[in-house]
Amino acid sequence: MGFRDLIADFKLQWGVHPDGHKSLTSERPIESMPLPERLVLPLAQHIGAPARPVVAPGERVLRGQRLAEPVGMVSSAVHAPTSGRIADIGDYPVPHPSGLAAAALVLLPDGLDEPVAFEPCEDPHSLEADEIARRVAAGGVVGLGGATFPAAVKLGLGKRNPVHTLLLNGGECEPYLSCDDRTMRERPQAVVDGARLMARALGAQAVVIGIERNKPAAIAAVQLAASGHPEVSVRALPVRYPMGSEKQLVAYLTGVEVPAGGLSAEVGVVVHNVGTAAEVSRVLRTGEPLTHRALTVSGAAISRPANLRVAIGTSVADIIAHCGGVRRDVARYVMGGPMMGMLLPGTDVPVVKGSSGVLSLTSEEAGGGSASACIRCARCAGVCPIGLQPFEMAARIRAGRAEAAVDLGLKDCIGCGSCAYTCPAKIPLSHYFSYAKGSLAAAERSRLKNESIKKLTAARSERLAREAREKAEAAARRKAEREAAKRRAAEAAAGEAAEERREVPQVSA
Ligand code: SF4
Ligand code: SF4
Repeated sequence: MGFRDLIADFKLQWGVHPDGHKSLTSERPIESMPLPERLVLPLAQHIGAPARPVVAPGERVLRGQRLAEPVGMVSSAVHAPTSGRIADIGDYPVPHPSGLAAAALVLLPDGLDEPVAFEPCEDPHSLEADEIARRVAAGGVVGLGGATFPAAVKLGLGKRNPVHTLLLNGGECEPYLSCDDRTMRERPQAVVDGARLMARALGAQAVVIGIERNKPAAIAAVQLAASGHPEVSVRALPVRYPMGSEKQLVAYLTGVEVPAGGLSAEVGVVVHNVGTAAEVSRVLRTGEPLTHRALTVSGAAISRPANLRVAIGTSVADIIAHCGGVRRDVARYVMGGPMMGMLLPGTDVPVVKGSSGVLSLTSEEAGGGSASACIRCARCAGVCPIGLQPFEMAARIRAGRAEAAVDLGLKDCIGCGSCAYTCPAKIPLSHYFSYAKGSLAAAERSRLKNESIKKLTAARSERLAREAREKAEAAARRKAEREAAKRRAAEAAAGEAAEERREVPQVSA
């Protein structure tokens, strides 16, 4: 550890050290899981507008074919993981905090795995920045660390703000997960290659890959792959949760604080996940879109913990069956890690692009127990990486004053769960915050909708008044024209009569 890292470690005041449980899977190489009999592909697997289907039920599709296209600036395409028939487009259970069903395509594989014609690129480093971003967008790549922000949109941030550094997050600080660790150990060249391509698209001169110190094999593999590329450096990160969250990573690796409510690009830094980098390299070199991903299957209840490469759309039930089923009672199924992952209502939900793990946790692992009253110990404030006062925010939310919690920084909360993890009273603090943020977002959406309805109503009234006014003016104009025409006709008739009188010859007596 260098002097710079020692100082940076010394300065760290936040975070927790949950039991990692990494050894359950960290020595298990990523294996490919066979295709299941049915794939359910949600249209919203990313942050932004859901994709729009471009195929119809009954249609045969090929592997890699675009099934749904992006809508608007922030969105992402969905592609077929194999050839088969579209059985349905409708609402199906999806991994979402609301637990509600959402629109998805159902694909029944035909076993032929027949691909579309891909366009590989032998030297993607010769591509222009815009072309790299275009191909990443065409490949439907989103942040694979769980954020699921469309990767191409993030690559365009360099146009708005000068970006000097690309940070790759190889922290994987969530307990149980080891698929990023395995990706770095098994595909370090792809990680470094993808990072260099993304840096080219961003116009960034430097790439820093941060990897937690508890992954020495990954650090060694990526360092070896980066040798010969002086713009790429590897930095070891302290083992601390949530080291991998964007603002903490930027602060630790660059010493620069991202302002509250701001983006890291505003301080010249863009952060991507190591798995995303490896995928960008694969998509650009092969021309094949994102249709599969690596994930960790773990938890004490699963018979055979594993790291798998699965087709997106595979159900959690199929994955658990592939891993030998469960051998103990499952208290909780989680998609992602136990700290920030999503509690699943059951196993009939598909893996999506952002799914980094499927956990089957026993009651001992899930913890829980009933909450007691806050003892004002302030431990939650001590571990919060953002420097918030969780107990005070929770008190305001409990009192139905979510707006007042915003004054304490509720919107800056990254939902890391460190406060709840450390709370001796077992108060589910981060659940309060995600609930309050969800209600505030819903209220904001409803306010915007009402405003938009008001604007539309006002515009309609104005249009109706304008049309009535224009109609009255047109009627008045027509009446005036009719009267003028009548007047002109009368004048013409009078003129003709006078003329006739002048033309009658005068007979002398
Ligand atoms: S308040 Fe939010 S950011 Fe702070 S520890 Fe709790 S969940 Fe994490
Ligand atoms: S850690 Fe729990 S008990 Fe202590 S102040 Fe925070 S909410 Fe209260």
